[in-house]
Amino acid sequence: MKKIKTDFLIVGAGFYGCVLAERIASVLKKKVIILEKRDHIGGNCYSEIDKETGIEFHKYGTHIFHTSINSVWNYLKDFTYFNNYRHQVLSRHKKKIYQLPINLETINNFFNKDFTPTEAKDYINKQTIKFSKSAKNNFETKAKSQIGEKLYNAFIKGYTFKQWGKNPKHLPASIFNRLPLRFDYNESYFKNAIVQGIPTDGYTKIFKRLVENKKIEIIYNSSFEYENNHDVKYLTIYTGPLDKLLKNKFGQLDWRSLKFKKHVMNCEDYQGTSVINFPELKYKFTRIHEPRHLHIERNYGKKTLIIKEYPILDNNEPYYPINDKANRSRHKKYKDYLNKKDKKFIFGGRLADYAYYDMDMTISAALKKFNQLKKNYK
Ligand code: UDP
Repeated sequence: MKKIKTDFLIVGAGFYGCVLAERIASVLKKKVIILEKRDHIGGNCYSEIDKETGIEFHKYGTHIFHTSINSVWNYLKDFTYFNNYRHQVLSRHKKKIYQLPINLETINNFFNKDFTPTEAKDYINKQTIKFSKSAKNNFETKAKSQIGEKLYNAFIKGYTFKQWGKNPKHLPASIFNRLPLRFDYNESYFKNAIVQGIPTDGYTKIFKRLVENKKIEIIYNSSFEYENNHDVKYLTIYTGPLDKLLKNKFGQLDWRSLKFKKHVMNCEDYQGTSVINFPELKYKFTRIHEPRHLHIERNYGKKTLIIKEYPILDNNEPYYPINDKANRSRHKKYKDYLNKKDKKFIFGGRLADYAYYDMDMTISAALKKFNQLKKNYK
């Protein structure tokens, strides 16, 4: 690759890279070059229009923007409007549909009861008590101590096994914390969000606006080598996986990846909602997405698009870090090595931090990083 001359070099055009590029160009007024290995912007948040149906879909899985971080909202609202989509997830078990996260409706339907919140709590407590003394240091013990064995087997065990390709006993308990248990009828997936929705004109437009400053240039289809002769005046900011950067020097980091299969259906509405989860092992996929439901404000036509999601192991297309002990300690070796090595090289974002960040957490981390570094480059 030819030698690059710039003030700041950013590797990766996802949220971490694009937010930093925008801040550096508009506040510090410095030149930024972004190297992106794909042929498009936006990382895994990228959205595009399906040619046959005209429906906008998220190429790397449905992304619902939600946040309770004020600084993120104050920043992002200059780059997009959001529609009033409210995320709800349903789960299919034995040909019946249930609410997820598990709430009072799920409990009453599943156990065929008519409980009040207090009665439901008592009922679930009776099922969890025998797990309450066991160490809650893995996904399975944590889940059973919260929801009991029956709900766990129906909605969680199979899905988690497919999603992570591992027995849930060998997964960190922290993954289960993403799924709250509710004893009311609230069915909003992101109940505590101060803002939630889908960008009115799609995710890709947010990224285009983030980088529209003339001081930012993006070079697509280009990889980055740690050992290089680029002429970077201030800082290189790397947002990809650290093991790839250092050619697996301390071993490979494991990731779960996803594969998507699109199907155009000859009906206006296939499943009545944007996402249905399929926890049963007899289905190889974990969810079916129907993206027309993300934009009820648009007038889509008579056909619909559905997308089946299949978890796979593929360290070249990283989605979810397998955050077990061995991987965490490997990741720490990479971090320590890079932190010591070069003061003009920093890294961050979901891939470089090997972390299960939501979009708002990534944006928040980029804004914090900018606040730390801006004083050095005024
Ligand atoms: N999960 C599950 N059943 C479901 C949905 C999620 O067991 O129907 C578990 C699974 O282990 C998953 C985790 O909860 O990895 C977090 O789910 P979330 O929906 O937050 O995953 P994401 O949307 O980030 O892929």
